[in-house]
Amino acid sequence: MTTTKSATSRGSIEMSRVSTENYLKAILRLTETEEAASTTALAKILEVRPAAVTQMIKVLAERGWLTYKPYRGVQLTSEGRARAEEIVRHHRLLERYLCDHLGYSPEEAHREAESLEHHISEAFEARIAELMNDPDTCPHGQPIPPKVDK
Ligand SMILES: [Zn+2]
Ligand SMILES: [Zn+2]
Repeated sequence: MTTTKSATSRGSIEMSRVSTENYLKAILRLTETEEAASTTALAKILEVRPAAVTQMIKVLAERGWLTYKPYRGVQLTSEGRARAEEIVRHHRLLERYLCDHLGYSPEEAHREAESLEHHISEAFEARIAELMNDPDTCPHGQPIPPKVDK
């Protein structure tokens, strides 16, 4: 629980949710090829200082979304992985929707989805998935993770 003034403003809370989701996504991406994600690699992908990564890792570990081992890096817990995959699902469904229905190029759709993925509701996600008959892949050919029932 934080008592700083800035953290209580709506803007900061929103920023921190977006940044939390971007951390989970980056860790998911890195652990597709490596056993654990290093703080150095995360700092590079997320374009933040290593000290900021260390701080965020603590927060995410407290929430039960990842585990951290010194000198080895971070791994997502099953809950953290599920959250990360949900954001990837939003991203790829949005890309598909933007390309197929709004005439975006795959590159434009990617940029737009990077931002929108954090803000759509589950109802919106369900509507576009249904409209497109639950597509399997994004316009870049990457698989769209299935909806997981909670
Ligand atoms: Zn969702
Ligand atoms: Zn894509």
